[in-house]
Amino acid sequence: MVKSEIKRNVSNDRASTILVSNPNLSPQSTRREVMKAIDPAAQGIKIRAMRTKGKEGVVLATASQEDNVKIQSNVQLRNAGFTVQESMGDNPRLRVHGVQAELAPEEFARAAFAQNFQGKWTESMFRASFKPLFKTGKRDLDTVIWVVETSPEMRRAVLNQGRLYIKWDSCWVADFVRVSRCFKCQAFDHVAKFCRGVEICKHCAAEGHKEEACPAKNEPPKCSNCRRAKEDDGHAVTSENCPAYNWAVRKRLRRTNYGKEAEQQGTQQPPTPCPRNCDSAGNAKRDREEASPQGPSEKRVISDLDRPEPPVTPRRRSEGTEIAWKELCRHCFKYGHTTSQCLSLVAACEHCGLEGHKVETCPNRGSSTRCVQCIRLKLKKDATKHSVLTQEICPAYIMHIKLVNK
Ligand SMILES: [Zn+2]
Ligand SMILES: [Zn+2]
Ligand SMILES: [Zn+2]
Ligand SMILES: [Zn+2]
Ligand SMILES: [Zn+2]
Ligand SMILES: [Zn+2]
Repeated sequence: MVKSEIKRNVSNDRASTILVSNPNLSPQSTRREVMKAIDPAAQGIKIRAMRTKGKEGVVLATASQEDNVKIQSNVQLRNAGFTVQESMGDNPRLRVHGVQAELAPEEFARAAFAQNFQGKWTESMFRASFKPLFKTGKRDLDTVIWVVETSPEMRRAVLNQGRLYIKWDSCWVADFVRVSRCFKCQAFDHVAKFCRGVEICKHCAAEGHKEEACPAKNEPPKCSNCRRAKEDDGHAVTSENCPAYNWAVRKRLRRTNYGKEAEQQGTQQPPTPCPRNCDSAGNAKRDREEASPQGPSEKRVISDLDRPEPPVTPRRRSEGTEIAWKELCRHCFKYGHTTSQCLSLVAACEHCGLEGHKVETCPNRGSSTRCVQCIRLKLKKDATKHSVLTQEICPAYIMHIKLVNK
């Protein structure tokens, strides 16, 4: 079960993860000093992974609670001015769709409070747990997607409400799970400014040149992250279906603190990453043929969080995967996940079949309905003239179901 695996990983990681911090040191020197103070071999400590968590310090994932106690009672660390505490993981992020582009962060946050949480939260509590990070979405639209860092409690409150009223708009909200990719070395989870890797070509995956100077420009793209993980590298490093990218997303989910309640009761669970290749019937087929018989192994789950790891491939249906193959997402209108699990930033329109807007704001309401699934499959125009929701006559749906049931 994909969902419960992620849930289990979240709690596993939480139970044996600690944060070592010293506000006077830079992330790099924190790391160096921690490695000086702790001697895993001498003290018999099992370290699964170490990573810097921005200015907050260094996160150590250990094999057990026992290892944590050893680190927490390390005298050298204390004497060097470090504080050691259980790490709660990263705060979750939400995306708020359809916010007027010209709103300043301050205005956006004030409206989010006044129109949605006044009387339920105090303003200072709200502002401490709702931090606008950045805007994203397609350029030259008059609305944007705001990405917000929230506390686990705030995330739950916002998702329960399903939307945020911002000025004159009712804005759709969902989890935001994206992993940044470095423009220099193409690896995940850092940006070029902090890159310690070598220059890798975005197009051909070779070292030592930029994409603009690529000698293999006319050949199909190669993915350097999948090559490093010894997976099939025959796709662009930017592909949404990249196994390495999807693995990085899962890793991000494990590191995120969705709150105790989410772990215990299963309410507002961490989002499930899109199963790869859920975009069209053809891709789903290829995926099923390649699917490996084993699921993610324990070894993979606990390997070094700082290194790219071999990605997980979804298991075959017959072996008990819970991927919702037949589910049609009402946000991106792709198969294989529910609307609440959708990780796509681009909405699709159930009326005109185009991407980038929802039916509520469709500029093509005057013309006839076209099916977004069938447009994606590049069917002839006449074959697309039906609603994506009338699945009994939709060629894309019929093809998809045939492949899923095979
Ligand atoms: Zn890099
Ligand atoms: Zn190249
Ligand atoms: Zn890849
Ligand atoms: Zn979706
Ligand atoms: Zn439309
Ligand atoms: Zn169709």
